[in-house]
Amino acid sequence: MSYTPVYFSLREFVDPAIFAARGNNCWQLLSPEILRAADWLRGIFGPITVNNSYNGGRYSESGLRRWESTVGAKYSQHKFGRALDLKFRAPVTPQQVYAHILANQADARAHGITTVEDINSTPTWLHIDCRNWADQDVPVMVKVVQP
Ligand SMILES: [Zn+2]
Repeated sequence: MSYTPVYFSLREFVDPAIFAARGNNCWQLLSPEILRAADWLRGIFGPITVNNSYNGGRYSESGLRRWESTVGAKYSQHKFGRALDLKFRAPVTPQQVYAHILANQADARAHGITTVEDINSTPTWLHIDCRNWADQDVPVMVKVVQP
């Protein structure tokens, strides 16, 4: 399976150092599911910022992170290309998107999302990932975890 996003460019998903080292081959480091999930939410909620440091912004670790990164957990899903931290454009809020995912879990799972972080811990962004839960045969469920 592969997936090419409609709404995003590669640099939005990877740390600049990884992009500098691997260029277009960075697509190979990203889960198709997380790319599909980003497009799904973009289609519903409008523009989303992931990384933007390549364009003068402040975010560089909201997608695939370097192994040496000290942001987040040591074995964060971000380091495996399976997680994104999404920032939305007003009036859309992370809380609103979080609520939408939990109210539409079958749809979220169909678009690759298996996990969200508790929105109370991430008030200005929404963390989504597509980690492989051992109990993934639970038919319709998006897990809420702590960062
Ligand atoms: Zn995250």
